[in-house]
Amino acid sequence: MKGLHIQGIGVSEGIRIAKAYVYKPAQANGAGSTPPGELISDNPAAIDAELGKLRDAKARCAEQLEKLTEKAKEAVGEEQAGILAGQRKLLNDPAFYPKMEARVREHLESAPQAISEVVSHVAALFEGMNNDYMKERATDIRDIGSRLLACLSPGQTRGLTGITGQVILVADDLTPSDTVQLDSTQVVGFITRTGGATSHTAILARSLGIAAIVGAGDYIDAINDGDILVVDGSAGLCIARPQEAEAEQYRLRMKQDLARRQSLEEYAARPAVTADGVRVELAANIGSAAEAENAVRQGADGVGLFRTEFLFMNAPAMPGEEEQFRAYQEAARMMEGRPVIIRTMDIGGDKELPYLQLPKETNPFLGFRAIRVGLLRQELLRTQLRAVLRASAFGTVKVMFPMISGLQEWRQAKAILTEEQAELRQEGIRFDESMEVGIMVEIPSTAVLAGLFAQEVDFFSIGTNDLVQYTIAADRMNEHVAHLYDYFHPAVLQLIRTVIEASHTAGKWTGMCGSMAGDPLAAPLLLGLGLDEWSMEAGSLSLMKKQLAGLDRQECRELAERILRLDTPQAVRQSLEAFCNAKKLGV
Ligand code: PEP
Ligand code: MG
Repeated sequence: MKGLHIQGIGVSEGIRIAKAYVYKPAQANGAGSTPPGELISDNPAAIDAELGKLRDAKARCAEQLEKLTEKAKEAVGEEQAGILAGQRKLLNDPAFYPKMEARVREHLESAPQAISEVVSHVAALFEGMNNDYMKERATDIRDIGSRLLACLSPGQTRGLTGITGQVILVADDLTPSDTVQLDSTQVVGFITRTGGATSHTAILARSLGIAAIVGAGDYIDAINDGDILVVDGSAGLCIARPQEAEAEQYRLRMKQDLARRQSLEEYAARPAVTADGVRVELAANIGSAAEAENAVRQGADGVGLFRTEFLFMNAPAMPGEEEQFRAYQEAARMMEGRPVIIRTMDIGGDKELPYLQLPKETNPFLGFRAIRVGLLRQELLRTQLRAVLRASAFGTVKVMFPMISGLQEWRQAKAILTEEQAELRQEGIRFDESMEVGIMVEIPSTAVLAGLFAQEVDFFSIGTNDLVQYTIAADRMNEHVAHLYDYFHPAVLQLIRTVIEASHTAGKWTGMCGSMAGDPLAAPLLLGLGLDEWSMEAGSLSLMKKQLAGLDRQECRELAERILRLDTPQAVRQSLEAFCNAKKLGV
């Protein structure tokens, strides 16, 4: 008998073998999370004991909120910290905590049951109100509920911090903020029930070097805590409780994998040059200043995308100008003069920042996200731009705005930057006066209007992860439409060509920082289309250099011409595979 084979979507390569760690975050929001409805005994001692648990949890919760409020005050000032202080007040509201005690006393409900009932009830009341501000308070209520539940049984909620030894996480879902906290020396792999290939959780897994599978569905319920698991992140295959022979086969593949990686190491120190001698600019995507060091080690020519929101997701409250400045300056310093493109905060979509209290949305990827947040909550954008500008005095820093959908947005963002530049000048603070300013092309409307944008921006960076989802209307997070989500879709390719050509006509340049840029199969096509800068996870750089060394630009131009006439993603893939196989290139 073989072990249980579970097929999901492989999103971060690597083979790992380790014990399963089933992750169960605390929840207090919804019927499914209500603990079993067993009643406690009506014996006064039992009631007192249950009330004692509830009071202890409340005290722990209040203490945590107090500490967090203090921290937030230092980092972001009184106003933002007020949200946490507000939660503390809510804890003492007569319509909230006392009702929990009453349920224990009068209905003999257990402490977790009482918390869940009151939280659901109060949150529903707020949600039903005819006022957006009040509706949003439901999030606060649920937040406190989760915190209370976690405080009730600190040992039982399986957090991500209590892990010892090497494990493979098994979870319904991991948020990007869960993932950003993972220690990759302990969590060597993960498998989740839901999720898509270019979710930010998947992107983080790749940059942390964690083998990962998402969208595995309900099969994960068959995995028990402590089971031995094999995760093959390239094939999207997880084997639970493998037979010894199977495990041995994967151990051998792990060794081969390591040998393959080592054989690529020599490429790290070399520049990326095609067979016909064309130098290609290969950059790395990073999510923290610390990752810049790894980017240099892996041979990056620069940073093509600094996802700054990961910085914010790792903090208990919004980092202020000084803290941001230090992170950007550090990245610029580590890159030693190589360009660093800092993208302004792209929060929203699958990336939440609890302390920003953004409204819950039905379609977050089509909603209040990225530059839309920055233009409305301008204090956030202005603080960040000041920090970026100050860092520009310490290296080659460029800035770009995410999710631009029209010229109006770009002009507004640029005007804010100009105002902040003027402010700094007046304060006598140094910054790079000729810093390049660009936009991400992630929305079809912007790709279509690339010719107009190219008159005004310094550069484009194509974000295929979003461009694909918006062009094909296939959610990047949704495993049920993963078969549609494909950057080789002819419509996506037409948009990419439009953007690159528009930039060249105007004497500007185009980079790409979506996952397509790191795919060796896409390399001949992108080279043929004339892409100027390629930015990918640092771990992909060596393989890409090897791939480019086997390509001839003129040949690739001709290939691109042929491919742009094909009508399905499948035909495009086949054509690229045939081309690479004929040249004996690894794909
Ligand atoms: C993209 O959309 O391709 C991109 C690089 O941005 P993100 O993945 O952070 O949305
Ligand atoms: Mg994007």
